[in-house]
This record gives sequence, C-alpha cells and structure tokens, in this order.
Amino acid sequence: MSSISDNLQAVQNRIGIAAKKAGRDASAIELLAVSKTFGADAVIEAAQAGQTAFGENYLQEALDKQLAIRTARPDLLLKWHFIGPIQSNKTRPIAEHFDWVHSVEREKIAQRLNEQRPEGLPPLNICLQVNISGEASKSGVAPEQAGALARAVASMSRLKLRGLMAIPEPAGDFEQQREPFHRLRALFDALRSQGHALDTLSMGMSADLDAAIAEGATIVRVGTAIFGKRDYT
Ligand SMILES: *Cc1c(COP(=O)(O)O)cnc(C)c1O
Repeated sequence: MSSISDNLQAVQNRIGIAAKKAGRDASAIELLAVSKTFGADAVIEAAQAGQTAFGENYLQEALDKQLAIRTARPDLLLKWHFIGPIQSNKTRPIAEHFDWVHSVEREKIAQRLNEQRPEGLPPLNICLQVNISGEASKSGVAPEQAGALARAVASMSRLKLRGLMAIPEPAGDFEQQREPFHRLRALFDALRSQGHALDTLSMGMSADLDAAIAEGATIVRVGTAIFGKRDYT
C-alpha cells in the first residue's frame, strides 16, 4: 500500500503534467486535500509531508478533527476549507473555524456567515457553488442566478468573494469532463468582466483534476487519490 506522502507526491506530479500540457504554471494551482471520513492521524501525516490546506464536508466531524489536531500538534498551521452542504443553523461554527467556504449557494447563508465571522479573524474566503451540470437534484446556484449572488456576497464586509466552485456529474472521457469546467470558466470570466475581482476556480477532484486544470482550475479538491477509498460504514 502506498503512503499518504507518496500519494501527495503522485498528485503533485499529475498537477505538474496537466499544467504543463495547458501551458500553465503549476504554482498557480493549489492542492486542497479532502480529508473527510479520515482521522486526525491522516491529516497530520499529510501535513508532515508538507500539505497545509484541508477540505472537510461534515461539520461535526471537522470540528472534532481540528480539535484533536490542535491538541496533538499545536505547531501545525493548517488552512481549513468547508466544502460540504451548509444548513442555516450550522453557519456559526463554520464562520468561526474555517478559512474558506466553497459551498455558498444562497444569499441567506452568506448573510449569516457574514454576521457570524469573528472580528478578530480576516474576512472569510468564499466561493459560490454553481450547479453547472444543471441536474435538479444537485446543489449549487443556477448559472443565471450567480451574478446576483456574487453582487450580494461582494457587498458583505466580513466575507471575501474569491470565485466559483462546481462538482460536475461524473463523465467518462477527458473531453466530456472538460465541458462543464469550460462552462464554469466562462461564467467566471463573465463575472470578472462585470468587475468582480475573482481569482479562484475550485474545480476538479481525483477523477477529473487533469481536465479541470486544462480549463483553468486554481484549486483542485482531492480526497481519494491522497487518502484512499472512503469507508462510510
Ligand atoms: C469528497 C469531495 C471531494 C474529493 O473527492 P475525491 O473524488 O475523493 O477526490 C472534492 N470535492 C467535494 C465537494 C467533495 O465532497
């Protein structure tokens, strides 16, 4: 079995190759290690291999893990990104314990995060989650509504609007994988041309990060390829 450190190296190599193919600088692409369902030990192992940014989906699990890591290794300076669905009664701990939120899809959630972000912390970095594949069941703001949501979030002083995030439907081949990422990139460019100072396209996971990088991803969110298969039982 390969180690977390080996896996991180392999993913960084993949990012390097994809960036080179796209004529991009690999240093413009940040690896977010998605540690959901894995314990504090796995995060510490990744951190010892140089990984600093971690993504979590489930609030209580994330808070428990953060506390365990702070207790065991107060020397580790980690950045935490919340990437999961947000219930409106759970915004306060997210505003207090994370550096980034990638999954903002409603103004009401943004308002609560803005009100609850502690004054002693820098503004909370925000990506709007966009329903780029358009399935009724999927979360995310509809692309047509993204402009209005971006304007609302941009006006909130305790939030910093950084960009867009999407989780497209799984697709078989590289060209099919590129399509939704291309649409997200086009929406990103449109918002920028409307005056939003966005710098972040959070797109691409273990199975499709290469296609996401070809379309301009600046953060890839990778779980399985780093930590292994998740066990939800
Ligand atoms: C779980 C998850 C990931 C990581 O997925 P892998 O396929 O394991 O790399 C990325 N983004 C979000 C929003 C997730 O929920």
